[in-house]
Amino acid sequence: MQKIPLFIDNQPVLGRGKHFDNFNPATGEKTHEVTSASQDDFEKAIASAKRGFQVWSAMSPTERGRILHRASQILREKNDELAILECQDTGKPIRETLAVDVISGADCLEYYAGLAPSLHGQHHELGGDFAYTKREPLGICAGIGAWNYPIQIACWKAAPALACGNVMLFKPAELTPLTAFKLAEVFREAGMPDGVFNVIQGDAEVGKMMTSHPEIAKVSITGEVGTGKKVMTASADTLKHVTLELGGKSPIVIFEDADLEEAVNGVMLGNFYTQGEICSNGTRVFVHQAIRDRFLEKLLNRTKELIVGDPTDPETHIGALINQTHFEKVMYYISEGKKEAELVLGGNQKKISGCEGGYFVEPTIFSCDSDEMKIVREEIFGPVLSLLTFDSEEEVIRRANDTPFGLAAGVYTQNIRRAHRVVGKLQAGMCWINTYNINPVEIPFGGYKQSGIGRENGLAAIEHYSQLKTVYVAMNDLGNPFE
Ligand code: NDP
Repeated sequence: MQKIPLFIDNQPVLGRGKHFDNFNPATGEKTHEVTSASQDDFEKAIASAKRGFQVWSAMSPTERGRILHRASQILREKNDELAILECQDTGKPIRETLAVDVISGADCLEYYAGLAPSLHGQHHELGGDFAYTKREPLGICAGIGAWNYPIQIACWKAAPALACGNVMLFKPAELTPLTAFKLAEVFREAGMPDGVFNVIQGDAEVGKMMTSHPEIAKVSITGEVGTGKKVMTASADTLKHVTLELGGKSPIVIFEDADLEEAVNGVMLGNFYTQGEICSNGTRVFVHQAIRDRFLEKLLNRTKELIVGDPTDPETHIGALINQTHFEKVMYYISEGKKEAELVLGGNQKKISGCEGGYFVEPTIFSCDSDEMKIVREEIFGPVLSLLTFDSEEEVIRRANDTPFGLAAGVYTQNIRRAHRVVGKLQAGMCWINTYNINPVEIPFGGYKQSGIGRENGLAAIEHYSQLKTVYVAMNDLGNPFE
């Protein structure tokens, strides 16, 4: 069976830590053996990154941008090959991985390739004296990925980090180790110097090596809220910078004047894409009482058309959940939902011929009459939607904000003033008006409250991968301050 190595100094290296098996979530079939990093391998990666930093940070930003740009082109050329790999590694439908996963990673590399040469500081006149600021890299940055968007997450972290002149050690989630390694190969092919992008495989223990190592200046993690807290705590010992992209339980608010077809489109995208395994999903759908029945009828008709099936089949809309443990978590919430709420659609495991070893769940809709239900309060990370109703704007804003999370929110209305007024009061880092879950690289993405700290994408990410140096220049003599 093929062994998945680490990637250090632009070379594949078999890890000497634990070995573990990698499975195809759709079939349960063992596909690869993954070799994780030992402490010794990890130290080698750090030494390589330190050498890489000397070379990379000394290159001109235009040279760095050129390499990132070339990498984005290679990624696009390899779209089909990598999309198949991502589909096999994550269980998500091939129609998604072909259209989104690799391409959004390539977009991100392209965006920061263009930005790299235009990063600059400022000049301050001080009445004769003056000062200027420069943006400098932080050094070695650690990226820790979740399993739902492996190559996209790797690109979202690597691209801004590398554009700023940092180097990166990236650890994909243990469950999805395949495409980070491929991204490292793409960088090498694009001319990336040795040690600039190293891949470390492994589980949380390897993650802890990253958060505790004194040579690592920054950790950026995508994962659960609980993991984010552990990462922040561990990083505090050496006062690392942290970016935390964590979970959510986001609201979508649909007013009585909304375009119902469009609202259904957004709600379906925001609940059932990637089997519901998306952090920013709008799983609390608040519909105005006056349109509730019409909205639900349309939503049911459209959701019934979704095909749950073999992820490699281009017709499939809903693929396999990542593994049995996660499936059991999702089914636990569905069984809790059945006790508390009215099950309107789905709620069952689905057996797929040819994929008997996979875990598939029907798109599931609950009608809920309380915000206190477990399924309404907790992140499920599966295709499970909670439908709630409301009467007034003030009420729905209060209820939408009544959560420790604050990743995203959506508002559907034709009333432009109401749209902006409501969005202005929603406690969420990413808000959409009359659409949902659209995240182009140009705009910042990240959470309020316990959904995270820092931002990925857009110009905002630059702030989180660089530090400002202020230089005061005396044009006048200071003179003796104690005279
Ligand atoms: P986890 O929190 O389980 O894991 C995330 C990563 O952290 C994995 O690589 C994991 O390693 C690693 N890790 C776990 N414990 C530690 C530790 N103590 N120190 C350092 N690293 C550690 O998340 P999932 O992979 O299960 O992903 C799902 C979660 O991610 C959901 O809550 C979802 O909302 C969130 N998410 C947030 C996004 C955002 O942008 N805000 C986007 C996508 C997902 P390993 O798994 O290998 O053990």
